[in-house]
Amino acid sequence: MNISAAISRLRNQLPPEVKLIAVSKFHSPEAIMEAYKTGLRLFGESRTRELVAKQKRLPDDIEWHFIGTLQRNKVKDIAPFVHTIHSVDSLQLLREIDKQAGKQSRIIRVLFEIHIAKEASKQGFTPETCRKMLEEEDPGAYPNIRVCGLMGMATFTPDKEQVRKEFRSLCTLFRTIQSSFFANSSSFTELSMGMTDDYEIAVDEGATMVRIGSYIFGERNEIKHLKQVR
Ligand SMILES: *Cc1c(COP(=O)(O)O)cnc(C)c1O
Repeated sequence: MNISAAISRLRNQLPPEVKLIAVSKFHSPEAIMEAYKTGLRLFGESRTRELVAKQKRLPDDIEWHFIGTLQRNKVKDIAPFVHTIHSVDSLQLLREIDKQAGKQSRIIRVLFEIHIAKEASKQGFTPETCRKMLEEEDPGAYPNIRVCGLMGMATFTPDKEQVRKEFRSLCTLFRTIQSSFFANSSSFTELSMGMTDDYEIAVDEGATMVRIGSYIFGERNEIKHLKQVR
């Protein structure tokens, strides 16, 4: 299946209000342009250097979503243009994003990443640490960020019920946090969950954004990618 056929299939499957973020990490600017030409404008990347290189070469009306682990000292590299950072997992990172966005006179949208999977390797706040941070800190006090919701990744497992359980718990947490801390905010509306293998379950369980890579662009080839970006 080619890129545009994959996108139109997805569009037909996804409810119209669910945002499709094409995860283009490891894929070439040419592949991104193919997706762009179908009308898609939301693209997700997980490495700052790769994102900066691609952003320079690609149209300005792309809305770039950063979805990978973000080191604090790299925030400044993407602050001039990044639309949403899905992977905020500490207060220090939140503060740095606010600072760098301020230097650019911009507002950067952020999502708090919540650890819902069983794997120890996945990043993110636990539901408890996220809640605790919000009890101690008012994100409204940071003028250059806008907290738009939560992001999470389910366990990598063929056990669909496990995946569903994790997405469901993230959605419940999203609603609780929304009503406890963002009742007066019109921006806290996004629940970013679901990838190639589990987006259907995620949508069932309340996702408003899905982050889909391999379904659209095919398998990622890291070696090939490194040659293209350098
Ligand atoms: C790579 C990645 C995706 C997309 O994964 P696919 O399985 O290729 O759809 C989504 N979210 C995050 C955080 C990723 O790192």
